Amino acid sequence: MLEVRDLHVYYGAVQALKGVSLEVPKGSIVTLVGSNGAGKSTLLKSIAGLLPSRSGSVWLDGKELTNLGAEGIVARGLCLVPEGRQVFGTLRVIDNLNLGAFLLRGAKHLAKRQELLEYVFNLFPILKERQEQYAGTLSGGQQQMLAIGRAIMANPRLLVLDEPSMGLAPLIVREILRVLKAMNQQGLTILLVEQNARAALKVASQGYVLETGSMVAQGEAQALLSDQNILKAYLGG
Ligand code: ATP
Repeated sequence: MLEVRDLHVYYGAVQALKGVSLEVPKGSIVTLVGSNGAGKSTLLKSIAGLLPSRSGSVWLDGKELTNLGAEGIVARGLCLVPEGRQVFGTLRVIDNLNLGAFLLRGAKHLAKRQELLEYVFNLFPILKERQEQYAGTLSGGQQQMLAIGRAIMANPRLLVLDEPSMGLAPLIVREILRVLKAMNQQGLTILLVEQNARAALKVASQGYVLETGSMVAQGEAQALLSDQNILKAYLGG
């Protein structure tokens, strides 16, 4: 479904991605792990059209996304849940969710927007309870749920998440991973970057390991979880 081919990305003179390739098959959860500064966020931002690449290409269902721009990429069905949630704190929960559906404006999409909103409220009932509350007053976990909900309102086929568990209590992390798994079982394809690598690989079918801008390992998530070198280097064991 998603194919990244030989991507090279720079910040000025500094090369952050040195020819990275990755595949996310339709219907799968793929987890990308790697230490701080490896280039994980850079890769996700580049896939989502927030950072230009110098060479290489990104494809979704056989159509090229490379440098299409963030809005065009969302319209093709790929949506990023950014690192640090980035919800609009001075807007209500419901406004944040409606903003996610900005490409589904107008009366002709009303039924679809309503259906998506019900789906999000079903996934995260707390967002329904707090829909009138300012997003900035939510807990970290609730803000993460809102960030995921806002992305779902764009009706993506591929959801890309940058460290959704960052700074959250273990119970909330489990809840978020459970919801990702449930959405995946309902047909959503997921690319997940996680510092919580062990838990993230457990819900994934495939895994990739990025190190200083290059992929150093890839394979079945189960195989990565039982690889002693990977365990020692990236999974703290
Ligand atoms: P983390 O887990 O710490 O977020 P990461 O794997 O997501 O790490 P990136 O944030 O993609 O890593 O960073 C990759 C490299 O690019 C790092 O060396 C980082 O210092 C550098 N980098 C990231 N953003 C910028 C920027 N805006 N300007 C210059 N260099 C940057």
